[in-house]
Amino acid sequence: MKHSQSRQLFRRAQERIPGGVNSPARAFKSVGGDPPFIARAEGARLWDVDGNEYLDYVGSWGPMLLGHRHPAVIAALEEALAGGTSFGAPTEREVEMAETIAALVPSIETVRLVNSGTEATMSALRVARGFTGRELAIKFEGNYHGHVDSLLVKAGSGLATLGISDSAGVPAGFAATTIPLPYNSVAAVERAFRGQGEKIAAVIVEPVVGNMGCVPPQPGFLEALRAFCSQYGAVLIFDEVMTGFRVALGGAQERFGVTPDMTTLGKVIGGGLPVGAFGGRREIMAAAAPLGPVYQAGTLSGNPAAVAAGLATLRLLRGNPHIYAKLEALGARLQAGVAAAAADAGAALTVNRVGSMITFFFTGRDVCDWSGASSSDTQKFAQFFRRMLESGIYLPCSQFEAAFLCAAMTQEDIDRTVACARRAFADM
Ligand SMILES: *Cc1c(COP(=O)(O)O)cnc(C)c1O
Repeated sequence: MKHSQSRQLFRRAQERIPGGVNSPARAFKSVGGDPPFIARAEGARLWDVDGNEYLDYVGSWGPMLLGHRHPAVIAALEEALAGGTSFGAPTEREVEMAETIAALVPSIETVRLVNSGTEATMSALRVARGFTGRELAIKFEGNYHGHVDSLLVKAGSGLATLGISDSAGVPAGFAATTIPLPYNSVAAVERAFRGQGEKIAAVIVEPVVGNMGCVPPQPGFLEALRAFCSQYGAVLIFDEVMTGFRVALGGAQERFGVTPDMTTLGKVIGGGLPVGAFGGRREIMAAAAPLGPVYQAGTLSGNPAAVAAGLATLRLLRGNPHIYAKLEALGARLQAGVAAAAADAGAALTVNRVGSMITFFFTGRDVCDWSGASSSDTQKFAQFFRRMLESGIYLPCSQFEAAFLCAAMTQEDIDRTVACARRAFADM
């Protein structure tokens, strides 16, 4: 593969953009080499500026569940653009979007649109604090909820990749409002509630973690969070920015049968444009202005183009629920194939998967929390990543990010990926 155009662009980028990227996860810092600059995408494929083709397991870090340039999404976008790109006034599409979200995720009685997942979690937490009149929030190690000040504590994802334990620039007082606990530990949650349950406004959790790599909830964990929040009057927030409309049409709450008080959404909900949302029980959401005293706002919130792309995506998923069965089957085939290839090569590998979210952890341990995830051999992962990239398989450039399948993938794509993995393990 040639990379000269990408290399040249990356040099220019580093002159004028910190680290050459507009989000640190893109920088290839932990795997070495320069990131390919992407020129275009179609279905499950990407092409870089040097003309190399890749099978895309990043999917823009989650949004592209349908694959790139799905015709229904492009048509909806074109129709929206013909009517104007922003009014700062209510539109019919926003009502349809809210109705569609509420129909697919029944715990969301009312919902507000924002522009990113970060805005969604920041706003949900503020509403939960305003509603309860309490300040503390429980979060879990290795869970990422966007770059909200108070939530950048043991926050997985890009921080874990770069070895930043807690972000600089966050006032200690903000971080002190967060209680970080090990994921999947019911005992730790119980201790926290026993100790200061009357002060805890909210528990925020990735119901399936994607941001330390894919880590599913153990049986009983989400149920326990539900029970403690109900007992102590805290708001249970499922951060479904990654899992929403991905692990099931109704998200992780449908898949695992546990109902939160509030939900945050992003990624898939924007169909590749910037959209986030937070919603939940009517009485809690009524704390948000203009109904209540919690201020939250956005100049571009509910943007016509973004909402059109998101609404087209949700409608397509709603009309084609078999997409989830297809993703499940492709995911299972990938998991079995790569696990067998690793076993044949004698490589220590733990493959975690929930539906179309999957991570190949280079460790012999089970991975059910951050201590398991961080036992991975990130040098081995980097070797594997580079070999896969050179054979045209575009994986997330971090051990601690989930890979995603999309509906445009075929069985042949999966089998080719497995064959590439087999070759990669053989010469590592
Ligand atoms: C990606 C992500 C976010 C942040 O969303 P942005 O749109 O990047 O701000 C928040 N929570 C989870 C679970 C995510 O995966």
